[in-house]
Amino acid sequence: MLDHEPPTGAYKFPSSPIVAEDEPHPDRRERVENIRAMLEYCFPDENRYVEPPEADHTEIERVHDPEYVGWLETFCADGGGRIEDTATGCNGATADAARYAAGAAIAAAEAALDGSKTVPYALCRPSGHHAQPSCADGFCFYNNAAIAAEAAVAEGVDRTAIIDWDVHHGNGTQAAFYDRDDVLFVSAHNDHGSWHDEYHPQEGSLDEAGRDEGEGYNVNVPLPPGTGDRGYDRLFERIVDPIVSAYDPDLILVSSGQDAGPADPNARNLVTRDGFRNLGARLRTLAEKTADGQFALIQEGGYQTSHLSFATLGVFEGVLDRRIDLDHYGYDDPFGRFDEPTALVDEWLEEAVEYHGQYWDWDSVT
Ligand SMILES: [Zn+2]
Repeated sequence: MLDHEPPTGAYKFPSSPIVAEDEPHPDRRERVENIRAMLEYCFPDENRYVEPPEADHTEIERVHDPEYVGWLETFCADGGGRIEDTATGCNGATADAARYAAGAAIAAAEAALDGSKTVPYALCRPSGHHAQPSCADGFCFYNNAAIAAEAAVAEGVDRTAIIDWDVHHGNGTQAAFYDRDDVLFVSAHNDHGSWHDEYHPQEGSLDEAGRDEGEGYNVNVPLPPGTGDRGYDRLFERIVDPIVSAYDPDLILVSSGQDAGPADPNARNLVTRDGFRNLGARLRTLAEKTADGQFALIQEGGYQTSHLSFATLGVFEGVLDRRIDLDHYGYDDPFGRFDEPTALVDEWLEEAVEYHGQYWDWDSVT
């Protein structure tokens, strides 16, 4: 997964004469290398690494069209490159990397279900939640979380909840399960909307709530720029906890992108290590309450390569109910320096509560 390398350019976009020197694409291998270094440093005795198997065509094609899978394999075999003028691109190693990322997500879901009570974590690169059934999108090629959920369905799991706290809308996951009620999808994200009429039509808005049997089971929660630790705590309190509790899943998968951090170049939110610690703790409590403790973390975005590892450490501190005193940093976050617009955040969250209230009975579970 380290060998995947998107093309250089002007930030994430193609080269341009207005930029004197091309720079690396924001999906850099250092992202996952730093996460691993942080976890090895902080949990030297508890970590156990497992090399994932590649996902096979049967597993991938539960989500993706065979025609798209064939196209990606050929495109990469020919050396890859930028996909038209989008921010998404690959090299010769990307198709293999995407198969291993999907395989890691499946292995994490299986570990969540095997009764061992570990904390399964798929350190995926490339990420998955923007990848739609028939196209790559937003640095993603195969939808790792969706493929893992489908693997759980194939194993006989009746109800899977995917919680997506990556700061971007999980449009690909939404598309994969939009008309189904056996996979609940809850995505909280900045309101960036659609970024392309043709290949990314989803807006991530409240009224994209699912259709047919899936109506009400696609829960989008747009968040205003500047949402921070308090806003995400309230997001869980007001929306994620009640809806996931009412759904009562057998398995929770988390699209765990830590790009809601205050220094992320691809986002506008302010969640610190402390805020991610709280998300991890809330996740553990929710999983114990609703899913017999069965959950798995699947890595999505996060592009400030130093803060990503602090944020991910926070998630693990919360999930494990541990605090790690880091040299020079203590329990703090070196990037936490802004205040969030609390009134605006609350206003948006209450709009979401009102909207989703047509499908979910809060009073029965709170
Ligand atoms: Zn993201």
